[in-house]
Amino acid sequence: MNQDPIKLNNLYTSEYAQQCDAQDSLAPFRERFHIPKDDEGEELVYFCGNSLGLQPKITAQYISEELDDWATLGVEGHTEAKHPWMPYHEFLTENMAKLVGAKPSEVVVMNGLTANLHLMMVSFYQPTPERYKIIIEKDAFPSDKYAVESQLKFHGFDPNDGLILWSPPHGEEICRMEELEKIMNEHGNEVALIMIGTTNYYSGQHFPMKQIVDLGHHHGSLVGFDLAHGVGNIQPDLHKVGADFAVWCTYKYLNSGPGSLGGCFVHERHANKPELNRFAGWWGHNKKTRFNMRHEFDVLPGAEGWQLSNPPILSMAAIRASLDIFNDAGFEKLREKSIKLTGYLEKLVNQLDNERINIITPTNPNERGCQLSIQVKDADKSLHSQLTDAGVISDWREPDVIRVAPVPLYNSFMDVYKFVKRLEKVLNT
Ligand SMILES: *Cc1c(COP(=O)(O)O)cnc(C)c1O
Repeated sequence: MNQDPIKLNNLYTSEYAQQCDAQDSLAPFRERFHIPKDDEGEELVYFCGNSLGLQPKITAQYISEELDDWATLGVEGHTEAKHPWMPYHEFLTENMAKLVGAKPSEVVVMNGLTANLHLMMVSFYQPTPERYKIIIEKDAFPSDKYAVESQLKFHGFDPNDGLILWSPPHGEEICRMEELEKIMNEHGNEVALIMIGTTNYYSGQHFPMKQIVDLGHHHGSLVGFDLAHGVGNIQPDLHKVGADFAVWCTYKYLNSGPGSLGGCFVHERHANKPELNRFAGWWGHNKKTRFNMRHEFDVLPGAEGWQLSNPPILSMAAIRASLDIFNDAGFEKLREKSIKLTGYLEKLVNQLDNERINIITPTNPNERGCQLSIQVKDADKSLHSQLTDAGVISDWREPDVIRVAPVPLYNSFMDVYKFVKRLEKVLNT
């Protein structure tokens, strides 16, 4: 009891992993999730929370409460449900704002991620003939790239000219600030928007958000972030770093179910700017007169003013369930565990002493979240299938990268141990 795990002399034993789990105050949270099992009923090693987070056991209850209110109240549920549907998104705001380091007025849950990204660019990408370029990171998520390219075209610009990729130095996988500074020194006065996905879905690199914002603003550009792989994983401190806007989804680290709604942040400096273009809808209109139906559009201040439609309550119930769990656990504690858990994974993978393996994710914990991207030379997708057969749910990215995300809410040190043992076996067959 209370033995410092570091004193156990062999990290590479299951006893060590068990010891770490025994001393982990967050370990009981695993019990709050449905962990997928194999045919024999044994729990799989689920390292895919960066793609679809696991289902909290309380989610069914939160959703069924809304189904019951709908069954018994019908339309009256808008005002009479236990959690009235009309202001339902407001029940999510405070906990969501905490997770992204924002003021509640700066945050709203709505739509899907890519839809929100477009809405944000309607407002924050307003190009002129002189300043119209957009910078994204080279390995940006395809949807983000399609979105910014289509915005360029929508405004009459050629993406071949208007889109600048922030690339890692030749032969490397990790982007460096020096390169972005160089781009801005050359093109700063032409750049309208820097839009970076952080944490990067492919390499696992987390970018220095404050430095990027300061650099962009120094050159007169706006700066937005896609936090699909950031929220619930790292603390983006959106207000403090001064981002102009951010978007994210809730089905990855936020465990809110397939295709669940996205989130959106608009810095308070943009809260009351009638001159901003925006695509409007009735849910962004003044709550007091929304149902009078005859009023001119009277935009709500803050992020809520970007809402379009009345939202899907069943999906929001799942988000509420998930945020309640995050609130119980406390994000700082989760992050502390996450750093240990991923550090342990890194150590074990590195000791495999297999020349085919190379972790491309940065080693500095401040430059990554929980995910490690492991490159396996000369591997193809059959390696991933073998891992799946061995009871590991991970993610494969062409040409040769396995992405694994030990999630601090429900993954254990024993999961890490089992994963590395199974990887070793697969590599040696
Ligand atoms: C997961 C992910 C998306 C997915 O977009 P949806 O609109 O939610 O389908 C987009 N961008 C990034 C960076 C992602 O990681």
